[in-house]
Amino acid sequence: MNLREHVVLGGGAALALTPVLGAQDSAVFWAASVLIDADHYWDYLYRSRFRDWSPRRMFEFHRTLFPQIRRPDFLALSFFHTVEWFALVYLVATFLESSAVAAVFWGMAFHLALDALWLTLHRALFSRAFSMIEYVLRRRRLRQRGLEPDLVYDEALTAIGVTPVARPSPSLPSPL
Ligand SMILES: [Zn+2]
Repeated sequence: MNLREHVVLGGGAALALTPVLGAQDSAVFWAASVLIDADHYWDYLYRSRFRDWSPRRMFEFHRTLFPQIRRPDFLALSFFHTVEWFALVYLVATFLESSAVAAVFWGMAFHLALDALWLTLHRALFSRAFSMIEYVLRRRRLRQRGLEPDLVYDEALTAIGVTPVARPSPSLPSPL
């Protein structure tokens, strides 16, 4: 789901929740439901090895990636969209007894539900790992099957004119 859709739908939900959350926490809910996607920018910085900071090319990068999400070697991780991050925010909200941090949590949960729905509609719900541990295990499994999970990202970088960093080629399987 793109940024504009998140802004509109998150804004609508925040508005509807104003009688429950109050104006201030509703605004926090809205901001969290949009800003959670900041990790896509981080992902681009990481993939380009911090050599390109252009937001325009970041959007281009993700647009180029999108048609590939059903490839068997495609696996994404967005840190702010993982159960580990959600658990941390939930614990902080509980520990601080903060309604603002709780609003952040529910804004993020609203966003994640929309993302999950959207990915399901594109029959690609599991193109993104929902947990860091899941990501590590699935990456390892892809490599064991002879697939390279970084390849699709390198191809997207090349397509938008950013040279990917050369990686050591995976060692050939032993004939024994
Ligand atoms: Zn998202």
